[in-house]
Amino acid sequence: MGLLEGKKGVIFGVANEKSIAWAIARILHREGMELAFTYAGEVLESRVRPLADSLGSRIILPCDVTDDSQIDSVFNTLKNEWGSLDAMVHAIAFAKKEELKGEFLNTTRDGFKLAMDVSAYSLVALVKCAVPLMEGRDGAIVTLSYYGSEKVITNYNAMGVAKAALETSVRYLAADLGPKKVRINTISAGPVKTLAAMGISGFKSILDMVESKSPLRRNITQEDVAKTALYLLSDLSSGVTGEIIHVDSGYNIMGN
Ligand code: NAD
Repeated sequence: MGLLEGKKGVIFGVANEKSIAWAIARILHREGMELAFTYAGEVLESRVRPLADSLGSRIILPCDVTDDSQIDSVFNTLKNEWGSLDAMVHAIAFAKKEELKGEFLNTTRDGFKLAMDVSAYSLVALVKCAVPLMEGRDGAIVTLSYYGSEKVITNYNAMGVAKAALETSVRYLAADLGPKKVRINTISAGPVKTLAAMGISGFKSILDMVESKSPLRRNITQEDVAKTALYLLSDLSSGVTGEIIHVDSGYNIMGN
């Protein structure tokens, strides 16, 4: 019997088969969880639908997280179809390409707001709607961050600030959700080649750095992240909330 037999979870952030959220979905499905998926826009629907179908998912819904009515509609559907929810994965981030190169000093007001809204506030907006369905069920939520929230990573710019806001939001949310028996944690993943990562100028040099300097001397895979997500979304981590777990081949511990 799988670790998540009889449980239900919703996944935000699959764009294609390279997405970290897709690796997480597959491992949750392998352990018995029934999954619902969302997609951002019609272009991605054509990619997400066949992936979700391949895991036998019946609920596949549009959700642009900048639109509260789309968020409400997802959770209304989950309430009507399932009545309750055990897990949520938030694997969403966006900044305009021009904000992910050059000096942070040149960040625009609009670019800053958009990165913060999509990459940080969206977690709060989704959790707000998810909690009534998760309350009292030992539910668990996971979001994805990156080391650029802690240290300056060339070109990461406004996204680094948004990830810092995301990580702090997780701590504040953990304090609110704990009494409701819902846990929330962050995985700080090392660099992985995905659609979102391709928007970061000079991304290849970040990959090279981890390969040469990290204790494990290799880059991580989507599956490395997914295994930690399984831990955080299952009873294996029953006493853990508000944490940031680095899945980065140990890169963050190095001083030089
Ligand atoms: P990805 O491109 O596969 O996923 C990013 C997702 O964000 C996409 O599914 C996209 O549709 C979604 N998204 C963007 N704007 C949205 C909006 N307005 N509404 C709803 N969804 C929206 O890339 P990924 O690397 O798998 O990213 C998943 C998460 O992992 C992100 O939070 C990212 O910052 C984080 N992360 C990635 C890396 C990396 O190197 N790839 C490292 C650490 C953390």
